[in-house]
Amino acid sequence: MAWYYYILIFWLLSVVIMLCVRVFQKNSEKLTFKQALMIIGAAPFIVLFLCILPIGNFFERRADKKKQREREEKEFEEIKLKVAENKRRSELRKKSIEQKNTNNMAKKPLSKEELVARLKAIAADETPKVRHQGAMCYSVMEPPEKHSKCELCGNDISYHDWDNHESIIKMVNEMIELGYDVKVVTVCKKCAENIKKELYPNMKSQDEDGFDHFKDIWLSDINEIFYFRTSSDTEYHRAIANHQYKYKPLLCLMQNKPHYFSSQMRSHFVDEEVETLEFMTGIKFDI
Ligand SMILES: [Zn+2]
Repeated sequence: MAWYYYILIFWLLSVVIMLCVRVFQKNSEKLTFKQALMIIGAAPFIVLFLCILPIGNFFERRADKKKQREREEKEFEEIKLKVAENKRRSELRKKSIEQKNTNNMAKKPLSKEELVARLKAIAADETPKVRHQGAMCYSVMEPPEKHSKCELCGNDISYHDWDNHESIIKMVNEMIELGYDVKVVTVCKKCAENIKKELYPNMKSQDEDGFDHFKDIWLSDINEIFYFRTSSDTEYHRAIANHQYKYKPLLCLMQNKPHYFSSQMRSHFVDEEVETLEFMTGIKFDI
């Protein structure tokens, strides 16, 4: 109930009390003309009150409807604002992703000379080398059998491996993310033998007498051919690099880190791996 109803009720009660006090103060049984006149005088107020109540209700409802409409409009505006805000945020997010992609595209890999200079700078650093010997871990279990496909002849490759192949793919992807023009091609033993003859004609086959495990490359069921170049004008340098430790020093140099850890947590220093770096890139580091 609105505040003016209370005033009206109060006013009406006052009229009634006034009538009682003023008109019926003498215990007169008879209704005098004056009393009747006063009651009649009060009647329009009662009628007025009875009329005002529904009229008031009507206006109140109207006011409520108006308020509700305003509230709905306000809510609608808020929803519109929220939608606009969400749209703005998603556009910002999209822009930042695009920006990130552009930044990645803009990443400039080092040239041949810069890679040499970087390795020389790492080698010239006189900070004492802290060596971690790591722990030798031997697994008595045979690695699980996995399958891949030769990217040259399409034959199925069945091989046993813990995670060497996956580690190589992961590291090559990291090099690509750094902006380097590198790739790795997985091939079967037969295809690898042909590439080995082409790339390293003086190397012995593992079936031949005098095969040297350190000098000659051992081909397994699965083999990785690593491609590297620093300029799109030149041919790719290729290397048969079947072990993840061939890739680690190169990735380390590309990341400008002086050392890395093997999976046994043994520390290796990149400036002590020049031979591997040269084998992988074809660059003469000359240090
Ligand atoms: Zn093949």
